[in-house]
Amino acid sequence: MEVRVQNVRKEFDRFPALHDVSLDIRSGELIALLGPSGSGKTTLLRLIAGLEMPTAGRIFFGDTDASEKTVQERNIGFVFQHYALFRHMTILENISFGLKVRPRATRPPAGEIRRRALELLDLVQLAGLEKRYPNQLSGGQRQRVALARALAIEPAVLLLDEPFGALDAQVRRELRKWLREIHDRTGHTTVFVTHDQEEALELSDRLCVMSQGRIEQVGTPDDVYDHPTSPFVFGFIGESSELPVTVQNNEVWLGGRPLGLPAGDSQPGKARLFFRPHDVELVQADAALTGAVNTARRVGGTRRVELTISGANQPVEVDLPFDHPATENAALTFRPRRWKLFPAA
Ligand code: ATP
Repeated sequence: MEVRVQNVRKEFDRFPALHDVSLDIRSGELIALLGPSGSGKTTLLRLIAGLEMPTAGRIFFGDTDASEKTVQERNIGFVFQHYALFRHMTILENISFGLKVRPRATRPPAGEIRRRALELLDLVQLAGLEKRYPNQLSGGQRQRVALARALAIEPAVLLLDEPFGALDAQVRRELRKWLREIHDRTGHTTVFVTHDQEEALELSDRLCVMSQGRIEQVGTPDDVYDHPTSPFVFGFIGESSELPVTVQNNEVWLGGRPLGLPAGDSQPGKARLFFRPHDVELVQADAALTGAVNTARRVGGTRRVELTISGANQPVEVDLPFDHPATENAALTFRPRRWKLFPAA
């Protein structure tokens, strides 16, 4: 099911949690809403669900205006971080619940409900545990049951709000892969809220990056990582270093020196230069960035070095080969291989 969010605004007691948000969610895609705390991710999810009503704007499910419809009418499947399962029900009863409480006219026969629930239990790889109660399962297993329960009603849209937020890192990573596989098999249109960028980059078909109640950028993980369209997105997705520079004669300058970086179509004047720490090369040239090593530490296969750049008052980080000595106060000359300029505010 395709979902279109059109010019939605949401105020809580006059406080605007979302400003004029528009988003087209494609049928069958897994889209992640990613942003810092308070950016409006959960509010947008709850509006799609029908748990909140927009102050202005509309939400369409396919061609139908769903703005006034209830959660049940929208046929939504949910998994929340702390959406506890029904404690007094077995796993099988939990998964069957959404179908059992349907009005008689749309309720499948009991045998069919059981068959479907067992099939879902198999899908989430918990076959054999149907008679257990939730407190006899691990956190990761419980979230799998929660997903099976959400899928049981054959939802038009599946909404997941930080479903793995309470689990430890290892289990989180496993469930992430597993969720992607389930999504590829079932093909439900899925909206996933997370503040974990690694999770969003690895799991989603597209990311929707949010900040302060607005959508900053929507695109594939590669697109957003390689072509951030704002300083916020550059700084929020992946690691980044920033320097205040000047654009002059189609070149980038810092502290009265050209850096050997063409400015492309950037306007002359003050600008912000962004690059990724791993995307730099050491050079021997006058037109380059120079800095003195403050600190160096081994991070996996590279050495992460913090430098004080001459001509700038802020430190930047660059990654060097792990066997580079990078002794304190040593001078380094480098250039970013790829970079992006944004006008200074
Ligand atoms: P987090 O990652 O911390 O869950 P979020 O991006 O999901 O954050 P929201 O929960 O959507 O953010 O909140 C967006 C803004 O709206 C916040 O400033 C929050 O305080 C406010 N807000 C959310 N729900 C309500 C409410 N029921 N009443 C008043 N303000 C609210």
